[in-house]
Amino acid sequence: MTTKSQTYLHHFRNIGIAAHIDAGKTTTTERILYYTGRTHNIGEVHDGAATMDWMEQERERGITITAAATTAKWKHSATGEEYTVNIIDTPGHVDFTIEVERSMRVLDGAVAVFDSSQGVEPQSETVWRQADRYGVPRIAFSNKMDKTGASFELVLSDIKERLGAIPAPIQYPMGQESEFKGIIDLVRQRAHTYTNDLGTDITESDIPEQYMDKVREMRAQLIEAAAEVDEDVMMKFLEGEEPTVEEMVKAIRKGTIEKRIFPVLCGSALKNKGVQLLLDAVVDYLPSPLEVPAIKGKLEDSEETVEFPADPDGKLAALAFKIMADPYVGRLTFVRIYSGTMQSGSYVYNATKEKRDRVGRLLRMHANSREEVTELRAGELGAVIGLKDAGTGNTLIGDGDDRVLLESIDVPEPVIKLAIEPKTKADQEKMGIGLQKLAEEDPTFRVESDQESGQTTISGMGELHLEILVDRLKREYKVEANVGAPQVAYRETITRAVDVEGKFVRQSGGRGQFGHVKIKAEPLEPGAGFIFENAVVGGTVPREFVNPAQ
Ligand code: GDP
Repeated sequence: MTTKSQTYLHHFRNIGIAAHIDAGKTTTTERILYYTGRTHNIGEVHDGAATMDWMEQERERGITITAAATTAKWKHSATGEEYTVNIIDTPGHVDFTIEVERSMRVLDGAVAVFDSSQGVEPQSETVWRQADRYGVPRIAFSNKMDKTGASFELVLSDIKERLGAIPAPIQYPMGQESEFKGIIDLVRQRAHTYTNDLGTDITESDIPEQYMDKVREMRAQLIEAAAEVDEDVMMKFLEGEEPTVEEMVKAIRKGTIEKRIFPVLCGSALKNKGVQLLLDAVVDYLPSPLEVPAIKGKLEDSEETVEFPADPDGKLAALAFKIMADPYVGRLTFVRIYSGTMQSGSYVYNATKEKRDRVGRLLRMHANSREEVTELRAGELGAVIGLKDAGTGNTLIGDGDDRVLLESIDVPEPVIKLAIEPKTKADQEKMGIGLQKLAEEDPTFRVESDQESGQTTISGMGELHLEILVDRLKREYKVEANVGAPQVAYRETITRAVDVEGKFVRQSGGRGQFGHVKIKAEPLEPGAGFIFENAVVGGTVPREFVNPAQ
């Protein structure tokens, strides 16, 4: 049952956009921000105009590292109702999977973006499994329909074969590759044809005759899938009647939230086709904070579990999911409020660190502006200025409330280690401070110093991960450093799992053979295990399994 003070939550969607690098996540996100009215220019992604990738390095490298939460408003094109969509940025590179982990923890639904000329790529597979692990409902966006080699069918068959999920196409492309002109909405049975480059000039019409056979076939399948999860549609299906649009939306929504249906859409973010319909689908099919299981927490000194349903009048329960050094205001702590209301100027209790802490100011982040607010309510995401101790995954509760720890974030063990020293000896102390600060922001980044040799080592999730941190050390802390050769790297690209004896386990339905596995070096210590899809799989891997492809 929903109380009166919870009704705003029906119009909230907290979503992540997850994808393989280069699938078009940044472009899609940027277009979403454009259409939701918060940015005013459509910029090419890597020319510095993209608003999500605002860290200097991200722009240079074209990789989204940070998982910032951005608040946008969207008015559904068909119903006219307004929604708040919080977009939690997730990275696409394998080295930053902890960022994916932490965003998965705080979002309620995700859009998986695929490059329709590539289908399901390995990293999309990893992200998909992470979403499975966190029980995140998803819709899929088959992007780049304008690109040579684009195939909607390829994406559909890859979702089935590689991800083992049942795709439910709710759209069909009119033309592919350079002939891609528009999108047929199979639920509302309308054709959307794009007539200008900005994608703002859209003609909505009946479905052109030439597509009718295909549409009938695909719609029949969609109705069948909807009938499987919803009785009303099932009744109509059995009686040979057409379900209404509302009944179809309700059934597909139910199936998506239960993760039995994965709606698939298509479009071209770059050519501004299909992004508005994608936003409509986010609203139609992804859950509101009221439709996901309440977060659980453990009461201190007890095995008792408590649940925190999304209710602004309930007890405060929030999770810090990202710490960022901000050039203007210092330390920003991104939080998701699960229950209760966080007030600016109030005290909270950090149950992880067992410390009282003060909430200074509260910010809601928009694509190109920051809005200061006096409170953040259940279901909302925002940033706090002033918290001194909060780290990623820390639980924040009301000061004086029963002490409870929320389910937190899995932090994988680092897989690569490098020795580091400042170029100038005098910078030793400054380097130590800088590294420590960076480690506070990123739980997969560790700094150690060897007592005997006096040498400092840094470890993280991959070479690129460490390279970026060394780069940040230079930019943000003005310390230039030399690094040694990687001492260890457990993995380069691992697309297979190993079992406890270190034997490779064949996965059913997966692509690739043993030969695809590339592993660069031996484990740090015998028995340390290997990492596969961010899960540590125990056991030693015999030498003969090292780098078998070479
Ligand atoms: P990300 O790494 O997933 O964030 O991907 P980006 O958004 O940075 O896009 C990667 C590349 O694909 C860029 O060169 C984009 O211009 C290009 N791209 C993105 N969307 C589309 C699309 O719909 N069609 C085509 N042809 N290219 C696209």
